[in-house]
Amino acid sequence: MIDGKTRTCGLIGNPVEHTMSPLIHNMLAEKLDIPMVYVPFLVEEDLAKAIEGAWHLNLLGLNVTVPYKSQVMDSLVDCHELAAKIGAVNTLVRKEKGFKGYNTDISGLYRAMSSEGISIQGETVIVLGAGGAARAVAFLLASYGASQVYLLNRSLSKAQEVAREVNQAFEKECIQAMALTDYQRLPEEPMLCIQATSVGLAPQVDKAVIEEEDFYRRIHTGYDLIYRPSRTRFMQLVERCGGRAYHGLKMLLYQGVEAFELWNKVKIEEALALEIYERMKGEMGIEE
Ligand code: NDP
Repeated sequence: MIDGKTRTCGLIGNPVEHTMSPLIHNMLAEKLDIPMVYVPFLVEEDLAKAIEGAWHLNLLGLNVTVPYKSQVMDSLVDCHELAAKIGAVNTLVRKEKGFKGYNTDISGLYRAMSSEGISIQGETVIVLGAGGAARAVAFLLASYGASQVYLLNRSLSKAQEVAREVNQAFEKECIQAMALTDYQRLPEEPMLCIQATSVGLAPQVDKAVIEEEDFYRRIHTGYDLIYRPSRTRFMQLVERCGGRAYHGLKMLLYQGVEAFELWNKVKIEEALALEIYERMKGEMGIEE
């Protein structure tokens, strides 16, 4: 029931109509009996004015999606340290004089991986891609103590740039850039691999960024950030070579859960998060 005490949160981006975030937040608010609603806001131009307006309208918080995750940083009064290092913000939390920015994509990915029992500390990890998502993953891996990260990308120069930035930010040489085509130079031992390219995303579901099976024999756990489709070609290849494979829907769930926790100063129990996850899977027609 919306009344005079209801607070508003929302998503700003362009486009916003395919988002699953209203389902996550409105269900959490209902289950916890918190007077909050969450709505999508299409922002076509003048992001700075939209943020200013949102603060003056007393919004409790916002999520930010494509194409504004970097640009929004110019409109903040404060920024969480890791989000500032990554250079991307997806959650704004209301403060006294404006919004503070956070990156719950990355804390959400960490929580999603932890909930599957995947650890990062001391691990050797392969990351596929060097775009916005891969860059954030590289920062996550460095900050949670991966011992060695091989960052493979089609354009080697982009991978080198990300590796340089992350190594500099953490003052250690833990990220090594490689071209995708050089994967045979990777160590032979089984490793965790995070798929962070857009290859395999619907509608191009029959593609993986690397097709050769000898690459997949190096993977004990494959984590694809893509969740549409829910079983990507990358995941199929990992499983065919004996590894465990996961899609990115839990990352989406937990980026929302972490934002909700920041806005409402609550802690969401794993059981409730998983209840929301079942609804998300239902919406997407995922059965497993
Ligand atoms: P970007 O556009 O920033 O980066 C795309 C990456 O894919 C680049 O590394 C690019 O390589 C690579 N790539 C694209 N096409 C090809 C190709 N034909 N062959 C080889 N490599 C290719 O995208 P993002 O980093 O923002 O997103 C990447 C993926 O992560 C998307 O699929 C997105 O859906 C997913 N994602 C999931 C989230 C979740 O909550 N689960 C959150 C955020 C992202 P190059 O540099 O050479 O062009």
